[in-house]
Amino acid sequence: MRTARIIQIGTVKIGGGLPIILQSMTATKTTDVVRTAETCQRLADAGAGLVRVAVDTLHDAEALREIRKLTTVNLSVDLQENYRLAEVVAPFVDKIRYNPGHLHHAEPETPWQTKVERIVQTVRQHDCALRIGVNCGSLGQTADGRRQTADIDVAINSALQHAEFIDSLGFDRFCVSIKSSDPKAVLFANRQFAAKRPDVPIHLGLTEAGLPPGGIEKSRAALEPLLSEGIGDTLRVSLTVSNDRKAEEIKAGRLILQNVAAGTVLTDWQSECVNIISCPSCARVENEQFVMLAEQVRDAVRSITVPMTIAVMGCRVNGPGETDHADIGLWCGKTSVNLKRGSTLIGSFGYGEVIEKMMNLVRSIIVAKMKSHCN
Ligand code: SF4
Repeated sequence: MRTARIIQIGTVKIGGGLPIILQSMTATKTTDVVRTAETCQRLADAGAGLVRVAVDTLHDAEALREIRKLTTVNLSVDLQENYRLAEVVAPFVDKIRYNPGHLHHAEPETPWQTKVERIVQTVRQHDCALRIGVNCGSLGQTADGRRQTADIDVAINSALQHAEFIDSLGFDRFCVSIKSSDPKAVLFANRQFAAKRPDVPIHLGLTEAGLPPGGIEKSRAALEPLLSEGIGDTLRVSLTVSNDRKAEEIKAGRLILQNVAAGTVLTDWQSECVNIISCPSCARVENEQFVMLAEQVRDAVRSITVPMTIAVMGCRVNGPGETDHADIGLWCGKTSVNLKRGSTLIGSFGYGEVIEKMMNLVRSIIVAKMKSHCN
């Protein structure tokens, strides 16, 4: 059985065969201190050992200072486009997550190694743990500045490269996650990484698993086999649900742990004809109608029997990149939804009209697929 080294995250320890820690994330605006702290506490009461909060601005960081005073739960933040925020938030959290694919946004001329070194210095100074959070939908840029396409080998290599670099800094209080919306890719990537780095604790999860119950089944198909092989030290079941239902992520995580303990592991997952991948939403969501939009997409395509993938994302941080590989993508702006076919933007449409526009695309994809089938 794989036993990664033990690392401390606030009041919990992970690795070394210790019980798996369940994680979730708030979806309130972080500057809404009271609601965010209440959500943290509700998640802790439901069994979360760690709660992630999104921080993008100095206002969010200031709010985090107050949230820290109102909750005892272990807190984590993810640095998206601004790695320098690590210095501002580290005093108030127990873990910081950075995505190697987002490091190029701030100070593009600065080498990524310099940025990671700075993050490591910061977490060391403030007694925090670190997560290298690789996401197949946001793998950064190629050498000539183009967006890197989703590729599982690129994701695995990125995780290995960053882990090796952090080793070279003499810091070992870190874990790694490699996420994708495809359960098979998550299985493959984590098996590969675990075999190459048996010493590093792993956080498991699918990104954009989608709405329950489908999102739970997708997560089960990847996480249960991995956990039964001894791979995984923390986990999150990311579900597209509103903030007041976030405890469902913890309940789903507990179900997965129970299934693994009972040996009733789900090993096969068949996508519905239309595979909907949708993000869980977080503080960055541009419009609170996002969850309803994802539900409307699901309801509109329920009777479609031609296989296709539709991605629904809550904001511009991951929306443009993580909709590229779907047949149809929708990502939310404040007052309109950006509609894409593959990587091409079709236009921006109001929340009340975008489903009809999307269905036009669905119909044209069906016609194109039928034609190619007949040729
Ligand atoms: Fe949050 Fe945006 Fe990711 Fe959705 S796509 S979880 S809103 S960062």
